Amino acid sequence: MAKASKGPAAAWLIKRLRSDVHKVTPRKRDMNALERVMALVLQGPEGSYSAAEKAVSSLKAHFIHWNEVRVSRAFEVADVLAERRVGNAPERAEAAQEYLRRVFGLQNHLELDWLYDASSERRAQLLDSIEMAPAHAGPVLDLDAMEEGDLIPVSTDMKRFLSRVGALPPSPGEKQVRSFMASQFKNKDFFANFVALQVQAGEVCDSKHPHCRYCPVLDVCPHGKKMLGKDAWSAALQDSGLAAKKKAARR
Ligand code: SF4
Repeated sequence: MAKASKGPAAAWLIKRLRSDVHKVTPRKRDMNALERVMALVLQGPEGSYSAAEKAVSSLKAHFIHWNEVRVSRAFEVADVLAERRVGNAPERAEAAQEYLRRVFGLQNHLELDWLYDASSERRAQLLDSIEMAPAHAGPVLDLDAMEEGDLIPVSTDMKRFLSRVGALPPSPGEKQVRSFMASQFKNKDFFANFVALQVQAGEVCDSKHPHCRYCPVLDVCPHGKKMLGKDAWSAALQDSGLAAKKKAARR
């Protein structure tokens, strides 16, 4: 029988990593890739996905084609959003038009459904080229691209992060990652859980330059403690408020 890991449990990790921005719902059937990415762009790194999705569906219902949104006057687009009570209408209208201009500028057309047949790396490349997509857009598209029967994608970033934090042994296989995360990848929040894990693994726990000082699991991570050194580790825990959490957990 495999020895139980002394590292953090999957449910505990996900609870620490999750934030409201990860609450992205699965793609609606009538939403194409151009619209899905637009919703993520309008959500940004901290906003609400449901508000951003409402902005996209409002524009879709009013304009005949996305090209019309691209070439309309800014106030016309903002008025549509304001009429439908979408918050930050002028800013969202500007972002929607800029996004459409960039996609058009890159491809000379606005069709993006090819993203779902592309590799994760190719999708990331397109998102980087747009220079407007938040960090969680890549993981969202990875899940969107799954077909029935596909296993949840496991990245090298996830393996590295789970190993560094002590949840899995060094160089774990995909099977070990899926087995460890099984409870979190199967429950009703699996979309948000996957996104939170991949953002942490790919952005915060970078392979060469992990951002340990700002990491939400620094208090339990042996690798982070070693990287920073004892004094800097203690100071980072104090600064981030994780020291208090660690103390409370001991009570
Ligand atoms: S503390 Fe550093 S090494 Fe550990 S999980 Fe966080 S970013 Fe990665």
